[in-house]
Amino acid sequence: MKDVYDIAVVHGDGIGPEVCAAAVEVVRAALGNRSPLNFREYPAGAEHYLKTGESFPDASFEGCRNADAILHGAGGIPGVVHPDGTEAGLDFTLRLRFELDLYANIRPIRLFEGVTCPLAGVKAGEIDYVILRENSEGLYAARGAGVQLRGELAVDNLVQTRTGVERIVRKAFELARQSNGAPRDGVRRVTCCDKANVLRSYAFFRSIFSRVAEEYPDIATEYVLIDAMTMHLVLKPGHFNVIVTENMFGDIISDLGAATIGGMGLAPSAELGDRNGFFQAAHGSAPDIAGKGIANPYGTVLSAAAMLDWLGVRHQDASLAAAATNIKTAVNDALASGCLSADLKGSWKSADITRMLCERVAEAN
Ligand code: ATP
Repeated sequence: MKDVYDIAVVHGDGIGPEVCAAAVEVVRAALGNRSPLNFREYPAGAEHYLKTGESFPDASFEGCRNADAILHGAGGIPGVVHPDGTEAGLDFTLRLRFELDLYANIRPIRLFEGVTCPLAGVKAGEIDYVILRENSEGLYAARGAGVQLRGELAVDNLVQTRTGVERIVRKAFELARQSNGAPRDGVRRVTCCDKANVLRSYAFFRSIFSRVAEEYPDIATEYVLIDAMTMHLVLKPGHFNVIVTENMFGDIISDLGAATIGGMGLAPSAELGDRNGFFQAAHGSAPDIAGKGIANPYGTVLSAAAMLDWLGVRHQDASLAAAATNIKTAVNDALASGCLSADLKGSWKSADITRMLCERVAEAN
């Protein structure tokens, strides 16, 4: 337990500052006057790049690296790109992932009461699984290292290492052990999602998965190819408990999963290494709705709750874990009582949702 936890806050671009400010407000309300959290803001992102020519200043990187946890809104503005065509606003997230070795990206997909599921007949509680996205290698390891030859040919490499695959697969089994199992049958199950029938790198991933699985005889296992997975997540989402997959596949099915529970605005995310934790919603900067006051803040608020949970376990600090539970309950109740933003077919503005959440967590204190 620490007296003070330093939280590096990076607002980012688009709706980033709106949802990030909302999450900080709710966390402050949940911890009350005795809050041990010290929030410190650092600049990074596409807008900062436009202003200064730097997308992620070294001082911001150092601040994030040394903090106890990092909280982010969202980054990126379409069209603000480096000479190679890649987005400047993504430098922040990607550099943190690779340089702080944030290998485990945990993305819970859960259908809340009060939210209409776009899948016919699926009710609250019937979708509740975790996508565990390998976050430090896979296809995205090639970012900035691919080749483009004379405008005729371009190559990026997909990287899988034994160490990288072993640790993410182990994490998947640990998450399954702590879970209540799949909603449909209560079975604790880890699904290996790959494309082992076509590419050697995925066959390698699968072979390591099979070997690690032997250490967890209490957890059911199965293999699903990525193309079939997109179908299953629509047709039988209640079957899944923990899905472990390569970086880009995890990126893609996270958006699909989020769509099945009401949209990107509801999907939280935690990116963990052995030393650092980085928390932001799974969505991007949504420039189409930025500045309108209608962004859905729930995903970022839930990511902030995950941050408190992670800090609470790491530092054996029960007060942080209690605040996390308090925030999750407030989100649950607010959604169930119809406190819905425009993307959820409601009419609540971001500020009103934030105020409502702050009142609820303060009451529970
Ligand atoms: P990235 O690649 O950076 O993750 P993206 O291209 O997947 O970004 P997002 O910014 O995640 O795109 O969002 C896609 C669309 O979903 C947005 O344009 C917006 O309409 C909607 N959306 C995303 N997040 C939210 C939110 N928090 N509240 C309301 N709508 C959102």
